[in-house]
Amino acid sequence: VASEPLRIAIHGAAGRMGTRLVQLIAEDPALTLASAIERPDHPRLGEDVGPPAGLPSLGVPLTAELAGRPDAAIDFSSPRPGLTFARACAADGVPLVVGTTGFEPEDRRALEQLAETIPLFIAANFSKAVYLLTKLVAEAAGVLGEAADIEIVERHHRFKVDAPSGTALRLAEAAAEARGGARFVHGRQGQTGQRARDEIGIHALRCGDNPGEHTVVFGLLGESLELSHRALNRDGFARGALDAAKFLAGKPPGLYALRDLLGF
Ligand code: NAD
Repeated sequence: VASEPLRIAIHGAAGRMGTRLVQLIAEDPALTLASAIERPDHPRLGEDVGPPAGLPSLGVPLTAELAGRPDAAIDFSSPRPGLTFARACAADGVPLVVGTTGFEPEDRRALEQLAETIPLFIAANFSKAVYLLTKLVAEAAGVLGEAADIEIVERHHRFKVDAPSGTALRLAEAAAEARGGARFVHGRQGQTGQRARDEIGIHALRCGDNPGEHTVVFGLLGESLELSHRALNRDGFARGALDAAKFLAGKPPGLYALRDLLGF
């Protein structure tokens, strides 16, 4: 007997990631869209979410509330609304996938605490290739050690609200851990003198409609190594988030990450 499709709620459903999730759920027989949640003042509230995503009517109106106990929820909104939504999921016992980035440390801790109540999957970047990049960066930073100056450059679309990207920070952390600590330096305006040997420079470009690029530069004397990932569209992120939602089905409460899903 084929099992029932997993009922997914999306928070931030009219956004760039939310819209792609609506489209991909419509294509996947293992999934069905249970509800599409947006901010209370969204102009399309009450309207079917199918047509704006280029789909036929889905019978799912854009709504402002979590209701009807979906099998899993996915959040791609912004930090404060994301945390409020996560609390609502915890109150209703709904497993949650969080893709939103830019949480303040205190909010991030509050979010993670909800994993005592519900299965909670958090990733600043759901792309499998970016996850692999993180591993490669750690390996390179460990092997090259003090010999390499590490600089991280990320590019994103002009609409992005947090800088640097959550992924750039994760890459910096992975590199710092592997080489036994580093100071993060964001831009160098007003700084005179040579860079400190123990710093990792992090630089954010905001331009056009770029869905996301990250390059980690290892600068040595006489040579350099660059490890790069380029997203061509949002599918790597959206498909990863949907895989995470499937992964959470039937899991006990706890904090889950890409390591658990991808197994490496
Ligand atoms: P977006 O601005 O296009 O979409 C966000 C949506 O959230 C908007 O439609 C907005 O109206 C909605 N929203 C705002 N307040 C809300 C509220 N109170 N309740 C419900 N909905 C609300 O942004 P985006 O490009 O889709 O990105 C969303 C988030 O996901 C950002 O934090 C971004 O950095 C992150 N992101 C993460 C990944 C990843 O792989 N983890 C990939 C891409 C983007």
